[in-house]
Amino acid sequence: MEETLKILVVDDDEVDRMAVRRALTKACVRMELTEVGDGNDAISALENHSYDCVLLDDCLLDQDGLNIIHKLRSSEIKVPVVILTNQGDEQIAVELMKAGATDYLSKSRVTSETLAQILRNAIRLHRAEMKAALANQQLRESHEELLQKNQELEKQRQQIQLQNLKLLEASRLKSQFLATISHELRTPMNAIIGFSQILLRPKFGQLTHQQADMVERILNNSKHLLILLNEVLDFSKLEAEQLELKPEIFDLPKVINTTVGEIRSLAEAKKLSLLVQTNLQNTLVFNDPVRVRQILLNLLSNAVKFTESGGIWVEVKEIPNQVIIIVRDTGIGISPRDFKHIFEAFRQVDQSTTRKYPGTGLGLAIINSLVRMMGGKILLESQLGVGSMFKIELPRQITSPTIAVSTPALNLDGDEIFYSAQNSHQSPSQSSKAPIGYPHIKL
Ligand code: ADP
Repeated sequence: MEETLKILVVDDDEVDRMAVRRALTKACVRMELTEVGDGNDAISALENHSYDCVLLDDCLLDQDGLNIIHKLRSSEIKVPVVILTNQGDEQIAVELMKAGATDYLSKSRVTSETLAQILRNAIRLHRAEMKAALANQQLRESHEELLQKNQELEKQRQQIQLQNLKLLEASRLKSQFLATISHELRTPMNAIIGFSQILLRPKFGQLTHQQADMVERILNNSKHLLILLNEVLDFSKLEAEQLELKPEIFDLPKVINTTVGEIRSLAEAKKLSLLVQTNLQNTLVFNDPVRVRQILLNLLSNAVKFTESGGIWVEVKEIPNQVIIIVRDTGIGISPRDFKHIFEAFRQVDQSTTRKYPGTGLGLAIINSLVRMMGGKILLESQLGVGSMFKIELPRQITSPTIAVSTPALNLDGDEIFYSAQNSHQSPSQSSKAPIGYPHIKL
């Protein structure tokens, strides 16, 4: 159903008002028509009621149309205004439209069709403008809201950045503290070890059996403490990115056999078999032998520590451009849910203070960082109660040292954990090219 339009006709000429009324009635416009004869009545009607359209005579007796339009604007009364001009007043109509009138029509051309059409157009246009103004207003508001949120976010970002800087500084200080303390403790520890060894030599006087036993305990505990201190020192250096590899060409099986030899007595003490199988065409590698030994020694110490019966196997083999070191044991095994954590610093499967197996929880974190620096990978397979297998894949010839990142990339595949320890992706063809950082050596 057509809506009823509220229309205000403002004209001081009774005849003209009647002509408008007749034209609209004839055009069958559903309307509530209000008529006023001067400008003041028009303003007060508009202030007190709302209208869909005003038909305004351009030249009233008490004031002209421009004045009325200005008053409407300053009172923020929003209504479409159609100017009804007298003969020859077109120029005035144009001025009024510039001031804000919606349209104009010469009184001489008022017919039912023209008036109804101009009225409807004016209302439609006004409503569209109102809608657009509303949308604009909403846009402005949401823009302001966004600006405010952006400012808040920026503030938060700056705070987080500040906190990050503080954290980095705290972490740097912690690493520095750890490095200093462990370095300082190593000197007296070496003295204790040295003097214990001297005391045990017969040429410095015969000790009683009990005394020798006690000195041996001092020696063993000091050696153990020194290992722990070295771990903490290495870890803090790795964290501070201050640990450097010292690569050279060396015979891998030789280092492997010597390292296995170092652990043999421990394995024998637990009645564990310890077998080495080397399968290399080319035994030479370009790497840091001290760090390769450290990796293997850590894996072997763990294997012995966490194995109560059975044995430990070390296997060394090669694939193009890579050497692979595998350490298997028949120990307690590791549950898949712990795979991820044990490579993190200070993390152990059993974190309780009453745990059966001693240790700092740094060994695997150090191995992980070292293997990363060498551009290699670690693979872990394990089953609770059955045993574990740590597989280290290393480039035969390490390239420029990559920085070790403390959190390893993880790829879980069933019971298998795969540490992508390569920071720089390297295809086999790339690795045969001259390495950046270290000289190219023909192996
Ligand atoms: P630590 O041996 O000093 O505790 P590691 O970083 O070397 O620290 O090892 C972290 C944890 O991973 C160990 O505490 C243990 O729970 C688990 N783990 C490492 N190697 C083995 C293994 N061969 N068998 C069973 N658990 C192991």
